[in-house]
Amino acid sequence: MSYRIGEGIDVHPFREDRPLILGGVRISAQGGLDGHSDADAVLHAVTDAILGALGAGDIGEYFPSTDQRWRGADSRVFITEAIRLMRERGGRLENVDITVLTEIPKLSPHRAAMRENIAAMLEIDTQRVNVKATTTDKLGFLGRREGLCAVAVALLAFDGENA
Ligand code: MG
Repeated sequence: MSYRIGEGIDVHPFREDRPLILGGVRISAQGGLDGHSDADAVLHAVTDAILGALGAGDIGEYFPSTDQRWRGADSRVFITEAIRLMRERGGRLENVDITVLTEIPKLSPHRAAMRENIAAMLEIDTQRVNVKATTTDKLGFLGRREGLCAVAVALLAFDGENA
């Protein structure tokens, strides 16, 4: 048995006229994030964490923002592809830990829903997914409420001939 860890970081600017979707959960109808897809920074960070643990590059290589197919895309498709790659290489997801850095909105009312939704998407037990939120105490672009940052780490296990 061997273990490999991966990290993912994603930042998107706020855009008032879009819905805010994080971890596949619609947090609000307005005050969302700008981006080529649905701009779900949490799912993008988780995707990159899985790809990172696989040594398989980054989300932009698989889903370039210049490709019209991914315009407004549900970011679940990125997760699905990362999981497919992981299984193809004999990996199993042990756990994912996510931190969202933002001043707005307050995420504590949505944490449980995000956690459950992400776990279902990853097909792992809810206990293996953690969602945290913090601020930068008003420092920097996050403090000025210009955007949101999501950070994720994923641990993958490989056994037998894949270890
Ligand atoms: Mg992104």
